Amino acid sequence: MQYVELSIVRYAAKILAAADEAGLPIGCEVETADGVCGRQVHYLIPNATRPGGGGADIEQRPAMVCLEHLEEMLGHPPERQPLFRRLQGPDPGA
Ligand SMILES: [Zn+2]
Repeated sequence: MQYVELSIVRYAAKILAAADEAGLPIGCEVETADGVCGRQVHYLIPNATRPGGGGADIEQRPAMVCLEHLEEMLGHPPERQPLFRRLQGPDPGA
């Protein structure tokens, strides 16, 4: 089971709506050796972590990332969503 607090969904929805209204794409915010990734975002990570405060601190907040970076973090392609499906149960007659 996965869960996301709706305040995070609202936070992301506001950002997406503002970008859509301005006609601007939202770029992946993952930092690479060449700077910020910037590719089109496709996924929201509600509890992403990143270096914070210039020291050894770790900041945690939602992040939007591209497919390539999510795959890199997961180590495999993400599962297709949304997950509306029915899983076949055991045969009651067996
Ligand atoms: Zn990226």
